[in-house]
Amino acid sequence: MRIELDQPRCEGHGLCEEAAPELMHLDDDGDLVIDVPDVEGPQLEPAKAAVRVCPVAALRLVQA
Ligand code: SF4
Repeated sequence: MRIELDQPRCEGHGLCEEAAPELMHLDDDGDLVIDVPDVEGPQLEPAKAAVRVCPVAALRLVQA
C-alpha cells in the first residue's frame, strides 16, 4: 500500500506523526514529509492509524 498526502489540505497538526513516527515527520517549516510512502507488513497498522487520526483527512492509503 502507498501513503498519499493531499498537501494543500494538510494543516500540520502532526497527529499523524505521533501515530506513525517511523513513517512520517513534520519538517522545520511544519510541512509533513512521508519518509516511508510504500508500506507493508507491520508498517500497515501505524499507517492506517495515521490516516485515521488526521482531522482534515489529508492522508489516504491506496493500492501501490
Ligand atoms: S494529521 Fe493530517 S493535517 Fe496533521 S500533519 Fe498529519 S496529514 Fe497534516
